Amino acid sequence: MAKVLRCRDLGTNCPKEIRAENEEELMKLAAEHAEKDHGISASSIPPSMLGLVKAAIKDE
Ligand SMILES: [Zn+2]
Repeated sequence: MAKVLRCRDLGTNCPKEIRAENEEELMKLAAEHAEKDHGISASSIPPSMLGLVKAAIKDE
């Protein structure tokens, strides 16, 4: 089952939906998206935010 993360579920106005085969891959793609489109470097994301991101991941 694929995993999906909708950026707007994290409180943004961003329409991006990120899909991947598993959570590890999804987190990698999400980090790339955050850096490229939101100017947030992955290393500056606090653990509490990572928890919110993981909680927002849905099975598709
Ligand atoms: Zn986004």
